[in-house]
Amino acid sequence: MQEEGIEAFRADVARAAPTLGEGADALRSWDDVKLLTVTLDRLERWHRPGLLVIGDAAHAMSPIGGVGINVAIQDAVAAANILAAPMARGIDQDPLLAKIEKRRLPAVRVIQGLQAAAQRRIISPLLQRKAGAMKPPLPLRLLDRLPVLRRLPAALIGFGYRAERVRSPKA
Ligand SMILES: Cc1cc2nc3c(=O)[nH]c(=O)nc-3n(C[C@H](O)[C@H](O)[C@H](O)COP(=O)(O)OP(=O)(O)OC[C@H]3O[C@@H](n4cnc5c(N)ncnc54)[C@H](O)[C@@H]3O)c2cc1C
Repeated sequence: MQEEGIEAFRADVARAAPTLGEGADALRSWDDVKLLTVTLDRLERWHRPGLLVIGDAAHAMSPIGGVGINVAIQDAVAAANILAAPMARGIDQDPLLAKIEKRRLPAVRVIQGLQAAAQRRIISPLLQRKAGAMKPPLPLRLLDRLPVLRRLPAALIGFGYRAERVRSPKA
């Protein structure tokens, strides 16, 4: 793409997204173009003495479903619920760090599993332009037929697999 020049790239962008109008002109040089790598993975261990990682640092989320921010915030709420009261009392937090990973890992596994399945079954075939020949997977067809079922993915996306509620540190 770079060999063909920024002009050709601008024209491609404008063709692919006509709604941008003259917005593509904002791309003046390759310095304005960034490659955003999408990954879906997780650390084998989210903590060590004095360190806890949560959110994408512990488990990088793909854009699918628009849930990564929810999951990161839920990690933060779980961490606060587990650590705030002991921290206020001056108790050593290191032995508690594993509890946060243990609480959050199942939820992260479920959501990442769904993201991977959606990538494999829907997004990748679409990107490979097999969409015309593609029959939507059974769960999607069921959601289409039975509107009441649509509450399930909505709740999963909105509240997560494991909802986290902020507790008072006094508790
Ligand atoms: C293309 C794409 C689209 C996405 N779309 C959505 C979406 O629509 N909805 C959704 O919910 N999720 C979406 N996600 C996932 C979502 O972006 C992440 O799951 C979420 O941002 C994770 O939040 P976080 O706070 O853990 O990490 P981040 O949002 O990555 O925040 C980490 C912050 O730390 C800063 N930082 C890094 N190193 C340092 C340092 N040394 N010192 C100080 N600061 C530092 C970074 O600049 C960054 O601001 C998308 C992901 C991708 C890749």
